[in-house]
Formats: sequence, structure tokens, C-alpha cells
Amino acid sequence: MASNITLTMIKPDAVAAGHSGKIIDMIIQAGFRVQAMKLTRLSTEKAQEFYAVHSARPFFGDLVKFMTEGPIIAAVLEKENAVEDFRKLIGATNPANAEEGTIRKAFATDIERNAVHGSDSNENAAIEASFHFAGVERF
Ligand code: GDP
Repeated sequence: MASNITLTMIKPDAVAAGHSGKIIDMIIQAGFRVQAMKLTRLSTEKAQEFYAVHSARPFFGDLVKFMTEGPIIAAVLEKENAVEDFRKLIGATNPANAEEGTIRKAFATDIERNAVHGSDSNENAAIEASFHFAGVERF
């Protein structure tokens, strides 16, 4: 199968706690190649847009507040089977259910402050990569 991509964000909790370096190392050790990466901060409008699929959920307001509280690191990652393999590497949404050795098991606090994002489909990976990066920022 040809290499494909996924989009990750190291979320504000993990950036503020100083875990970015360890998380990026776990990602690279797992065989992902970085196509694009930047430190950035989501505005309220951009966070609402990114998580629009969850806009009817009771936690939407809290999620937007959390994702805008400080800088994030956004990155496009390339690997065979990138979306599925990255979801395995990050672990379950709720760290209480995340397997040993996953990023969320190591660094997440709770179901909301869960350290990292990973795209859930190839289609969404392409949309999310374009959300954060222009074509000239990807290598
Ligand atoms: P993901 O694909 O594993 O990130 O999970 P989802 O797409 O279901 O949810 C998006 C993000 O919303 C999660 O990563 C959490 O930060 C947050 N979230 C999900 N479920 C809950 C919840 O029940 N309560 C709260 N407060 N936040 C949640």
C-alpha cells in the first residue's frame, strides 16, 4: 500500500507540560515521517471549525476552550497506513482505556485533556492537513 498521511496536533495540555519533545520522538520512532510541523494557536473560530462535527455534543464548549488555551503543535505525518497506525500509537480517547505504550497512556490527563489529536479517516486527514498547512509548507 502506498504511503499516506495523517494530521496530528499536540494539544495545549501537552505543550504546556513540556511533553512535546518526547511525543515527537515517539512519533518518529514509530516510523512516521514529518511532512510539515509548526507551533501555532487556534482562535475560538478556528477551533469551532476544526471540531464542527462535535458542535452538538455537550462537551463542545469545553473542548473549544481547552483547544484555544495555549499553543499547539500541528503536524502532517506520512507512513504506510498512517491513519490507523497513528490511532494505535495515540491510544483510546479516554486515557483510562488507553493501552500501555501509547502516547495518551503516557501523557493524557483525562478524556478531554488527552495530549494529542489524530485524524480518524484518510478523507479527514486530507481536510485537516489543508486546514493547518498550505501546499508550500509541506515537504
Ligand atoms: P478522538 O478522535 O480520540 O480525539 O476523539 P473524538 O473525535 O471523539 O473527540 C474529540 C476530542 O474531544 C477528544 O480528543 C477530547 O479532547 C474531546 N472529548 C471527547 N469526548 C469527550 C467527553 O466525553 N468529554 C469531554 N470533556 N471531552 C471529550
